[in-house]
Amino acid sequence: MLKYKCPRSGRVVTTSIETDTVTLLEMRNMKLSVWCPHCWTSHQIRATDAFLEPMQQAAE
Ligand SMILES: [Zn+2]
Repeated sequence: MLKYKCPRSGRVVTTSIETDTVTLLEMRNMKLSVWCPHCWTSHQIRATDAFLEPMQQAAE
């Protein structure tokens, strides 16, 4: 899942967008309109502001 950092609250938001690194790189000049559950509004973010959740967490 694609994540981004909310520009207003500074909190990380998980979007419902599923993508991979290649697609993210291709989209990096695009603007995405994403819903923010912290601000109860949508933000326009650049794909470069978004990042992917790591495939797996380090096992503990
Ligand atoms: Zn927000």
